[in-house]
Amino acid sequence: MTNEINSSNFIRNIVIEDLENKKHDGIITRFPPEPNGYLHIGHAKSIVLNFGLANEFKGKANLRFDDTNPTKEDTEYVESIKDDVKWLGYKWDELFFASNYFDVMYEKAILLINKGLAYVCDLTPEEMKEYRGTLTTPGKESPYRNRSIEENLDLLHKMKKGEFKDGEKVLRAKINMASANINMRDPIIYRISHASHHNTGDSWCIYPMYDFAHPLEDAIENITHSVCTLEFEDHRPLYEWFVRECEMNSTPRQIEFARLNITNTVMSKRKLKELVDNNIVDGWDDPRMPTIAGLRRKGYTPESIRNFCLAIGVSKASSTVDSQMLDFFIREDLQPKAPSAMAVMKPLKLVITNYPEGQSEMLPIENNAKDESQGLREVSFSRELYIEREDFMEVPVKKYFRLFPGNEVRLKGAYFVKCNEIIKDENGEVTEIHCTYDIETKSGSGFTGRKVKGTIHWVDANNCKPAEFRLFEPLILDDAPENEGKHFLEQINPNSLEVLNGFIEITAVKNASFGDKYQLFRHGFFNVDNKYTTEDKLSFNRIVSLKSSFKL
Ligand code: ATP
Ligand code: MG
Repeated sequence: MTNEINSSNFIRNIVIEDLENKKHDGIITRFPPEPNGYLHIGHAKSIVLNFGLANEFKGKANLRFDDTNPTKEDTEYVESIKDDVKWLGYKWDELFFASNYFDVMYEKAILLINKGLAYVCDLTPEEMKEYRGTLTTPGKESPYRNRSIEENLDLLHKMKKGEFKDGEKVLRAKINMASANINMRDPIIYRISHASHHNTGDSWCIYPMYDFAHPLEDAIENITHSVCTLEFEDHRPLYEWFVRECEMNSTPRQIEFARLNITNTVMSKRKLKELVDNNIVDGWDDPRMPTIAGLRRKGYTPESIRNFCLAIGVSKASSTVDSQMLDFFIREDLQPKAPSAMAVMKPLKLVITNYPEGQSEMLPIENNAKDESQGLREVSFSRELYIEREDFMEVPVKKYFRLFPGNEVRLKGAYFVKCNEIIKDENGEVTEIHCTYDIETKSGSGFTGRKVKGTIHWVDANNCKPAEFRLFEPLILDDAPENEGKHFLEQINPNSLEVLNGFIEITAVKNASFGDKYQLFRHGFFNVDNKYTTEDKLSFNRIVSLKSSFKL
């Protein structure tokens, strides 16, 4: 798999330059998620970048779980992340866990103490914050900063043995409390946390901090280009300090790029977890979620997500991408390959009074209107059909060309029908319309006698499959002015899901199973859902409507 779409990517240029200058024989990248939630489309950008570079330049890419935070991590997330990376179409060269390096990290902490570059500190978190200083004022040195090497070694050992409570002590790097870069003001290396770890169980009660662990993980794996998001730019001097002072054998280079943001959604595992935990969505794979699992369930294809990630490019400039851009790529991908079908989502019974009772026929209709080579399918037709309620108006508005009393329309792939009679219930609600058809007007018969202005779709009421259609709107209303600055949970769109119960033509969906995609005439692209489909009823998720004004 190569980068099919050429767009700007400054990291790719750095790699090309490094290879040309023989700085490396080959590159090694990594995708390092923390297993504290499911991956989202922002992670896809990082996956496509890291695995894409390794593939293109015949290097290697590791999948590494950055699991240094036991209270938030879980094997469920580890498994889902593996599934998502594979589903996106990538294979990792090696699978690693940061927790596998806990021994090495501990040794490196001892090395730092021995070099006089780390100390155990007893300041409380509040004191530590106060001592840290601000952007404009220097920090203050901790009173524990000048403990002897022996005392530090002894205390770290006791921390490891579990002799102190959570938060009682930390190990800190001894760098510079007056540094203009706050990250260099004696950052924490180890903290105490008496928590069970998904991988190491209860073997450890001290855990390394991200800023210390990450550069060591990269160096241990001989990563050449360590790509991360922009918020770590100010941490780079610290990253380089740890690699150097821990005397690592290899020197990875950290390169930052702008994270992906998309309109009308939130993009952080923590926030997505809140949506799940508060039952605002029905799980991490809810089709309204920007998670890879949610997009997959909604019906996005790996190709469409990869193409989207390649098209947005990689730069240092933060920007927010319109969610319609993602829709553009799924339409592009599905238009040529998703077979057509007709489905009625808000059914109204239509009876053709002059069509013989008990009779039915199979009408040939093209599988893909834009590609003849995909052939025809047989669609069942009989005296009783369902049409969309919206395709009938008792009193038509101006320019309404669909069915109304006295008007004639074409039934897609079938005949002209004319509405003659309306049946209502006791509440005055239209329950049925009675029409007559003209046998001469059969589709494909070459009939040119007269024209109609509207074509509507239908399904055979006597031979169809009940189906539910789940239509989605954005989960977050972030572009409404009244929502500006509000907490994301207050910006939830109350109408993000609409479930309609209707029918779908039977032949097209005869063998339909989870993940099959259809182009439903006039409604859009749909995916067969795995959670709500039952033996009696298919459940479809709308991926996108057919058209959008968005142009790439
Ligand atoms: P989150 O806040 O969603 O948990 P994170 O950055 O903490 O995101 P990690 O699991 O640490 O999540 O991320 C793994 C990799 O994915 C990191 O290298 C990170 O930079 C990258 N990544 C995460 N979010 C985005 C995003 N929105 N755009 C691009 N890359 C991202
Ligand atoms: Mg994180």
